[in-house]
Amino acid sequence: MTASHPVRPDASPLLRKERFLLPDGILYLDGNSLGPLPRHVPERLDGTVREEWGQSLIRGWNEHGWMDMPRRIGDRIARLIGADPGTVVLGDTLSIKVHQALSAALEMRPERRLILSDSGNFPTDLYMAEGLIAELDRGHALRLGAPEDVIDRIDDSVAAVMLTHVDYRTGRLHDMEAITRAAHAAGAVMIWDLAHSAGALPLDLAGLGAEFAVGCTYKYLNGGPGAPAFIQVRPDLIDAIRPALSGWLGHAAPFAFEPSYRPGEGIERMRVGTPPVLQMAALDAALDLWDDVDMDRLRAASIRLSERFISEVEARCPELDLASPRDPEARGSQVSFRHPEGYAMMQALIADGVIGDFRAPDLMRFGFTPLYLSEADVVAAVDVLERITRTRSWDRSEFRARARVT
Ligand SMILES: *Cc1c(COP(=O)(O)O)cnc(C)c1O
Repeated sequence: MTASHPVRPDASPLLRKERFLLPDGILYLDGNSLGPLPRHVPERLDGTVREEWGQSLIRGWNEHGWMDMPRRIGDRIARLIGADPGTVVLGDTLSIKVHQALSAALEMRPERRLILSDSGNFPTDLYMAEGLIAELDRGHALRLGAPEDVIDRIDDSVAAVMLTHVDYRTGRLHDMEAITRAAHAAGAVMIWDLAHSAGALPLDLAGLGAEFAVGCTYKYLNGGPGAPAFIQVRPDLIDAIRPALSGWLGHAAPFAFEPSYRPGEGIERMRVGTPPVLQMAALDAALDLWDDVDMDRLRAASIRLSERFISEVEARCPELDLASPRDPEARGSQVSFRHPEGYAMMQALIADGVIGDFRAPDLMRFGFTPLYLSEADVVAAVDVLERITRTRSWDRSEFRARARVT
């Protein structure tokens, strides 16, 4: 931080930075992709491994409530997304939760054949829809609109509208209320993917009335790599939907070992198989941090950080073009800038201790998670970005070599 970039006194992180185990010398602007490690998680996880697994062995399922984790932790997520208790369950990956929501939605509208999404959706959501269409083989089709006019494409041929609230590339926000209202007016089922929303901004799923919401917990919620995903179902539908992935732990009586499937009571029917207990334990511990977070304050802090970032970058790195909405109300908690050499620039930034990521073809993406980032961090990150762009230190073959994960 330099004297020319004054930082306001209210610009500290929402939680103490020490509550996370962040490496020294790193400015982490990628908590939107993989949240950092809360400091208390390793010890809690160690207890789950050594005491629960190690000492209780198979008794742990009952003694330590392992079997209840998907539902119990689901209630903790419910609070963060404004959903009612008993409407959220954890398990599997987000791709699987998309499949579950979409297959249930299509069955709710058997006379309709269209799934409407947009070209800004994350590919796995679209791929899962394609796979489901092929598997059902009943003449369904996936229609993709531009994000701006997807609302105008909703009509009474649409069975399900399936959208990601915050665009993973640009951070553009969909108007959840308006789109959900339009879907319902046309008789379509609404599915929201909250991958980049949960833990990023306040949500009111209970008030929204969308039939389904899905999301992941390793991004803003800090559950760790591979943390389980969640699905939320509108309360009045829970006992009516038929799970397509009819695994034994979604059965009404798993330990009756009946030969035929009967869906379980309540949201538990969206469970499939054995829960990943260690991942659940890490997530459960990480969620303790969230007990101290007010989502409205979080959103206000996130906007302060992203606004500061945009104004600093535009003033100091003129060759970068803003790819995110300029209006903070139209943006999630991430900001992207465009540059033809964005990949090499991002590698140079990472080499200098500022971690963001890259999304093809030319987006440098930065996430702003106010739990541990301050405005001073944002300014310090732009100091590095400015130096890299001025000196062209990114212009080296080693920074152009593409890694498997970008
Ligand atoms: C991150 C993300 C996913 C990831 O899906 P996984 O199956 O958990 O790997 C899916 N959809 C969206 C919109 C995402 O942002």
